[in-house]
Amino acid sequence: MNFFPSRHRHCPQCSQRTITVKGQKLVEYYHRGVVCHFIGSALAVPLDEEMIRPGEGEVVAARRLLERVVRTYGRFFQAVVVDGLYLEAPFINFCQEHGKHVIAVLKGQHRVLLQDAQGLFSQMAPQVWQEPRRTVMLWEEEGFESCEGISTPLRVLYAQEIENKRSGVAGKWIHTQETHHWLWATTIPASLMHARQLWEAAHRRWDIENDLFNTLSTHFSLDHCFRHHPTAILNFILTLFIAYVLLQSFYHRNLKPQRRAGFTLIGVASQLYLGLAEYGLSAPWSQYPRAPPL
Ligand SMILES: [Zn+2]
Repeated sequence: MNFFPSRHRHCPQCSQRTITVKGQKLVEYYHRGVVCHFIGSALAVPLDEEMIRPGEGEVVAARRLLERVVRTYGRFFQAVVVDGLYLEAPFINFCQEHGKHVIAVLKGQHRVLLQDAQGLFSQMAPQVWQEPRRTVMLWEEEGFESCEGISTPLRVLYAQEIENKRSGVAGKWIHTQETHHWLWATTIPASLMHARQLWEAAHRRWDIENDLFNTLSTHFSLDHCFRHHPTAILNFILTLFIAYVLLQSFYHRNLKPQRRAGFTLIGVASQLYLGLAEYGLSAPWSQYPRAPPL
C-alpha cells in the first residue's frame, strides 16, 4: 500500500517516483507499508502494519510484519492469503517454519509450474458449481515440486468463472457473460481443506482492498496526511486501525438491531464526530509543541 502521495511534502524516509501530469514530469513522494488484515470475520480487522524502508522489497518488510503478527495473534489463524509477489521460496519457507500455510496468486513468473499444472488440467474434468450470478469450474492437483527452493510440494488451483451480467440499456435488460481466470498455489493439502473452501478463501484476498483501504481512504481520512513525519505517519495509521475496529465492534456488537437499522457505520462515525465538536473539546495533544523537523 502506498500512503500519502505528495508532490510537495517529503522526508528522508520517503519513497519517490516520477509521474507525468499534463505532459510534465514530476517527482511524487510517498510512504509504503504492508498491512496484515484478518479475513473470515464479519468485521474488517487490520492486525498490524509495517513500513517498507526506502529501497527495501515489500516481501522483506512483510516477513518482519508476519514475525510480529504470528507472535501476537498466531493462534487466531492457520494460513496467509497473499498476492503473486509472495510466491517465492524465502517467504513460503518462512511461513512454513512459523507453522502457517500460504495461499498465493499464481502468476506468469512461475512458467514451469504453470506449464506443469496446465498440462495436467487439460487431461482432467473440473469440479463445477453454481454461485450467485456465476458458474465456477475448478481444476486442482497437488504434489507440484517445480518451484525452486520451496520445501513443501504445492497444490495448484485453476478456476474459470463465467459471470452473468445484466445492464439496462434504452429501457431494456441486456444480458452478457464475462469469463474470469484465476490461478492459485498453496501449501494446504487436499486432506486439510476442500477445493471449494480454498477457492472462497483465496478470493478473500481482495477484502483488504475493499473493506479496509478503500473504506478508510474514502470515509476515515487515510488519504490525508496530517503530519508528514515517519513516526507520525505510522502512529496515525495504527491509531486509525484501532479506531476503526472499535467503531465496528460498537456498531455490530453493541448497538441494538433497531438502532443499527437507522444508521450506517459511516452514519455512526459522523454522529460521534459531531458529538465531539458540539462540546467544544480540543484534542489533548493539540497543546503540545510540534515535533521538530527531521
Ligand atoms: Zn516522507
